[in-house]
Amino acid sequence: MATEPIAALLGALTAGTCEIIDLTAPLSSRTPIIGLPAPYPNTPGFSLTEISRYDDERGHWYWNEIHTGEHVGTHLDAPNHWITGRDGLDVSRIPLRHLLAPAVVLDFAAEAADDPGFLLEIEHVEAWIAAHGPLPEGGWLLYRTGWDERAHDQDAFLNEGRTPGVSVECARYLAASPIAGLGVETVGTDAGAAHSFDLPFPCHDLLLGAGKYGLTQLANLAALPATGALLLVAPLPIVGGSGSPARVLALMNH
Ligand code: MN
Repeated sequence: MATEPIAALLGALTAGTCEIIDLTAPLSSRTPIIGLPAPYPNTPGFSLTEISRYDDERGHWYWNEIHTGEHVGTHLDAPNHWITGRDGLDVSRIPLRHLLAPAVVLDFAAEAADDPGFLLEIEHVEAWIAAHGPLPEGGWLLYRTGWDERAHDQDAFLNEGRTPGVSVECARYLAASPIAGLGVETVGTDAGAAHSFDLPFPCHDLLLGAGKYGLTQLANLAALPATGALLLVAPLPIVGGSGSPARVLALMNH
C-alpha cells in the first residue's frame, strides 16, 4: 500500500474509493445574477462573443471572448469586495491553503423549504458543533439550503428577495470563528432581506472585514458528508479583482 499522501490519493481515485463532486453551477447567459435596487448599478451576466469558428477567412479554429462580472455564477468574494475589507486581499492573492482546504456542510434545506427567509443562528451552528465537532481551522463552512434546485430559473432563484441567509449575530460569530470562508447555494452569502437588517449585509460586512471569503451559488452540496470533504476552490487570479467565477470541486470518500 502506498503511504505517501499524494500516492494514496491517486490510488483512491483510481480505485474509486474517493469521489470527485462538482459544486459548480454551469456558466452561461442563463446563469442567474443578483439584482440590486436603484440607485445601485448591477453586474452584467455571463456571455460569449465569437472570435472565429472554423472558417476559411478567420481561421480553422474556434474561440470566444468572455464577458462577465466578477460576481456571476458560482464565484468567490475576496475580502476587498467590501468596504470593511478594502485593505484585505484581492482575489489573486488568496493563499493556496485556503483554496484547497477541508469543508463541512451544515444542512438546513428542510428549514429553508418551510421558510424561504430562514436565517442561520448561533445556536444552529453550536448544535452542529456538538454533534460533529469543531468548525475546520482555515477551512470552509458550506451552508446548504436546497436553493441549488432553483438555480435553473432566475425568478425562482431570487424569489423576490426572499432567500435564506445568516443572522447578524451568527455572521459575527462566524467572522470570529476559525473558518476561512462561508459557502452558500444562494446568489450571495447574505439573506435576501439582509439590506434591512440592523447591520446590513452582515456576512459581507463582517466576514470579508475579518479577511474571510464568500463562495456563492454552489451546487450538489446534498452529495457531501457533514465532515471529511476536501474542497478545491479555483477562482481566476484577477490582479486587483474583488472576486471571480470559480470552479469548485469536492473530494470525498466514496
Ligand atoms: Mn459576490
